[in-house]
Amino acid sequence: MLSPELEARLGELTDLHAAGALLGWDQQTMMPPAGGEARGNVMATLTTIAHERQTDDELGALLDAAEPAGETEQAIVRVARRDHDKARRVPAELAAEMERASSRAQEPWATARATNDFALFRPFLEANLELRRRYVECFDDAEHPYDTLMDNFEPGLTTARVREVFGQLREGLVPLVADIAAAEPAPVLPGPFPIAAQQELALELARAFGFDDGAWRMDLAVHPFAQSLSPQDIRVTARYKEEDLQGLFAVMHEVGHGLYEHQVDPALARTTLGTGVSLGIHESQSRLWENLVGRSEPFWRHWGPRLRERFPDGVGDLSDRDLLRAINVVEPTLIRVDADEVTYSLHVILRFELEVQMVEGTLAVKDLPEAWNAGMEDLLGIDVPDDTHGCLQDIHWSFGELGYFPTYAIGNIAAAQLWDAMGAALPDREAQVATGEYGAIRDWLREHVHAPGRTVEPTALLERVTGGGLDPAPLLAQLNAKYRGLYGI
Ligand code: ZN
Repeated sequence: MLSPELEARLGELTDLHAAGALLGWDQQTMMPPAGGEARGNVMATLTTIAHERQTDDELGALLDAAEPAGETEQAIVRVARRDHDKARRVPAELAAEMERASSRAQEPWATARATNDFALFRPFLEANLELRRRYVECFDDAEHPYDTLMDNFEPGLTTARVREVFGQLREGLVPLVADIAAAEPAPVLPGPFPIAAQQELALELARAFGFDDGAWRMDLAVHPFAQSLSPQDIRVTARYKEEDLQGLFAVMHEVGHGLYEHQVDPALARTTLGTGVSLGIHESQSRLWENLVGRSEPFWRHWGPRLRERFPDGVGDLSDRDLLRAINVVEPTLIRVDADEVTYSLHVILRFELEVQMVEGTLAVKDLPEAWNAGMEDLLGIDVPDDTHGCLQDIHWSFGELGYFPTYAIGNIAAAQLWDAMGAALPDREAQVATGEYGAIRDWLREHVHAPGRTVEPTALLERVTGGGLDPAPLLAQLNAKYRGLYGI
């Protein structure tokens, strides 16, 4: 049994995190623009209090004295101990400096991106990188400095392993992209898609996936995201454009994130285990619903007629097959967030390679634009016209969040592995999706992926469910089968 005092302290940490999450959600959905400065202070205060509680000697003593019984309690102590130790290794003054540097970099990054002026952002990225180097020095047990940074997002994964996996992925994707580029182009949806009707359809879709009005909200935000305050309070956000249906797919994506949090075992609430285990596994859930369900042929057998009914002009006279092709256009483009299912991971591989070189010190920040442009030519065969559409496009480096990008491609890889494992257990999955029925998929994910929360480490979870570690082969096989079929190559 865990002592009531330890349970109370761990519960408090979860509550502080939920309070911060609510303030962050509010900032991006409801807060009037002038509230930003005050909100920044409130959030900084909460972060400081949470850090103090996380690193408190008393928490360490309670963890030392704990006598966990059974798998769940052992996991609670193991994970809480790791969170506590990691937070204590970083001096408070370094943690605060990292926060300040990241908030200082926001404005210059936004201006640099808007005006195509990398030189303006450069000193801020150099400062963030230098602080990350000091952060890495706080941990002496990593094989590679980048391992320490990745550990905050994907515990247990090493740079060496990601290099290997991304190398295989790259080798498989580059020829597929080239073959698609040489094939007859896919048709384009004529549009427009009035936004009010998209919102209605998005809610209908979300409800079919598992959005439940008693425990979820959907609101508008500039950048769609999902946030959970507890398994019974899930917030997803959306953004729509009249020209295309990307907003609809973004909703499927965010609902996938939301379902993960919603289906964590309620017994784990307020224990440090009651949330997603890693960003890569989280992303596997959003990608699974967005791409493997939402862009599939059986899915559109059910939703195609509903789309046509709502958007007769938007769909035009495209046949069912051409509608499916239009929804699955593959084309090398400059911007990661707009990239399709096939080229997306190549954008991520580029960022991973550049980050590792910057952390190793083999790539200077001043040479980043040139290295970026050469990488885009290599990986996607396209010319980058300016840094706005190149190395300044993502917000992550302004926050100093190095080690985060790989989780996007890890999500694609893990989604494909989990999808294969699920397929073996649910042989009539396709027929169900074709009738708009997702209960069996949702239940399988709850049992095998969602319910354990952080109880099982990400690598062990994949091994338990799929019988192996991170492996790009299922993703490559699925993409080849699907897109060679759609493009007739
Ligand atoms: Zn996501």
